[in-house]
Amino acid sequence: MPNYCKAKIVATVGPASSTPERLRALFEAGADVFRLNFSHGSHEDHRARYQMLREIEAETGRPVGIMLDLQGPKLRVGKFEHGPIGLAQGEAFRFDLNLERAGNPRRVPLPHPEIFAALHPGTDLLIDDGKLRLRVEQCGPDFAETRVITGGQLSDRKGVNVPGVLLPMSAMTDKDRADLAFGLELGVDWVALSFVQRPQDIIDIKQLVEGRAGVVAKLEKPAAIQKLHEIIALTDAVMVARGDLGVEMPAEQVPRIQKEIVRACRKVGKPVIVATQMLDSMVVAPLPTRAEASDVATAIYDGVDAVMLSAESASGNYPVEAVRMMDNIIKQTESDPFYREAMEASHTPAQPSIADAIGSALHAVTGLLKVAVCVSYTSSGYSALRMARERPPAPILTLTPNIATARRLALVWGVHAVHTHEIEHVDEMADKACATAVREGLAQPGDIIAITAGMPFGVSGTTNILRISQVK
Ligand code: PGA
Ligand code: MN
Repeated sequence: MPNYCKAKIVATVGPASSTPERLRALFEAGADVFRLNFSHGSHEDHRARYQMLREIEAETGRPVGIMLDLQGPKLRVGKFEHGPIGLAQGEAFRFDLNLERAGNPRRVPLPHPEIFAALHPGTDLLIDDGKLRLRVEQCGPDFAETRVITGGQLSDRKGVNVPGVLLPMSAMTDKDRADLAFGLELGVDWVALSFVQRPQDIIDIKQLVEGRAGVVAKLEKPAAIQKLHEIIALTDAVMVARGDLGVEMPAEQVPRIQKEIVRACRKVGKPVIVATQMLDSMVVAPLPTRAEASDVATAIYDGVDAVMLSAESASGNYPVEAVRMMDNIIKQTESDPFYREAMEASHTPAQPSIADAIGSALHAVTGLLKVAVCVSYTSSGYSALRMARERPPAPILTLTPNIATARRLALVWGVHAVHTHEIEHVDEMADKACATAVREGLAQPGDIIAITAGMPFGVSGTTNILRISQVK
């Protein structure tokens, strides 16, 4: 029997992983979804990577998920006249909208009027991934006088975070809109939106995407955590973006928030990804630290859908080793008998809907009978998501006539998707489910399989039948 992982791996593609051979090696090492990070690289770079990945899909016959990650409104200071400056604790420093004059040791332009509009005395500005901290003492619509709390070196175009402040700006810049149009044209399966602040940000991007891809809300702002449940209800999937989240909030709060987000997503059955620094030391070393191995395993024990690699696979020295290591950690963790107990202990009762009633029945069936494989028939992917919410012990085989659905489900816990033709009758469904389960090596004659689907077939969101069959 093939030893598929339940949890999935998202690998970021970059200069260290942009040849067909390297991408194929990442795929074979266990990467399920590939992230094209539009904070870096040209459209032509991303187009070439996209095409290589679709070729791998055609060669292997396995659906590959491709995620476009939009840069979002990353705020940056302007440039300095004479290179980097040093800021010492207690010094005064000014930010302003005077974009004509380059910075000096006393001031720098900050080309974002939205920031000045939202500041007030006492607000902290964090610069360069939080390395420097400056506190606002006085401010107006075009300037802020600050005091250095944590000093250090400051150079051109360093990133600025304003934690705890809801900035009056959209999560999409003009660059993001152009990148999104480009990616949708290519045919990406998921679009990740950075620096989501409010539920409206998700409504806005969904209007642009029009169902052509799934939307991933990257949670990396305290404002988004305050609206967690509304955002989860609107989005198709969530990323715990610990990199920026750990700048916006104290590091000691990140684990608690990570677990809160994972619980909230699992409760409603929305896919959730844990991202950033998971195997960070593998950027430069062939082995992770014990703490990193443990971080990946902890996310798996919490039942996340996917864990993500960033620089490890995009620009590190050991991209393939990092994917293989992650895959090994997932396999080890999932084979621990306690893992099953953890999935049951963290399972929450279904909500009162027809689809969840079917999910609940499936959960009862897999608890009573030794089910070899759970099969879902779906055109939209909805039945597969409801099945994955139950975190069943058996693999989830998803049959779909829609290749876009098969690709999108690459992100979802436990789902092994197979692209198939349309079916019309319930009997045909059971026969085909059994035959495909056997062909994929997931079941043998005599095994019991549990099938969910929606009738009428082909209409999305109608999960309403559960059928138990025995493989002939
Ligand atoms: P990024 O997002 O890598 O695009 O910044 C993830 C994070 O912030 O953790
Ligand atoms: Mn980020």
